[in-house]
Amino acid sequence: MRILIDFSPAAIALENKKEVLGLFWDIVNEGLEMNYTALKLTTLDRSSVRGDIARVSRLPNTPHYSGLFCIPLTIRDMHRSEGYIRNLAHSPRYDIDLDIIIKDNIRINDRVVPDLLSKLELRIIDMRKEEEEEKEARAAQLRASSTPVRGGKYVTEEEIQKVRYYPIASILGNRKLRNCPFHDDQVPSLSVNHKKNLWRCFACSRSGNVIQLVMEMEGINFTTAVRWLCDK
Ligand SMILES: [Zn+2]
Repeated sequence: MRILIDFSPAAIALENKKEVLGLFWDIVNEGLEMNYTALKLTTLDRSSVRGDIARVSRLPNTPHYSGLFCIPLTIRDMHRSEGYIRNLAHSPRYDIDLDIIIKDNIRINDRVVPDLLSKLELRIIDMRKEEEEEKEARAAQLRASSTPVRGGKYVTEEEIQKVRYYPIASILGNRKLRNCPFHDDQVPSLSVNHKKNLWRCFACSRSGNVIQLVMEMEGINFTTAVRWLCDK
């Protein structure tokens, strides 16, 4: 097992840095991916390092809130037990030459890490593009399922279903039979089925649900009537 995370500065766009490092840690943590040999890494306090950018730049020999120190480890150390390493971490470590270890790590990692990071950055850019396309497709679907009205407004299927249950009784009253409001009606001709929320006039043959009633009464189109009922 090797833990080698030092490498020369890589050219990652600033806005991608956090996500690239997040993916990088996933690869380090989860094992083999994209043909890079990764390793199993846990911190001494056993918590994940995903997204913890501060941990990336934590200085060797500085204390951690767990009470242990962030200490440099050699490859040889990594072959020892966790108990051995944990014991080492109880105090700062000055018995090894950090400069040499860092230079050695950079030399080894520079063969793979910059290439890996730029691939991860491309993947993040792709993922963002896919998200945008998905969002756009959903918006287009919503537009297609709606009918445009003046002023650029739309009504959704959900709004139509909702207003269909707006009681006709609230507009025409509770009676089952009444005078038709759309013409001179001496004998009540308009019948209302309050249970089904539908109406029909036996004299003029107009009929429909509450939306058609509002359209007739207000002289407006379907979407404007739905909007009118929504605002009730
Ligand atoms: Zn009528």
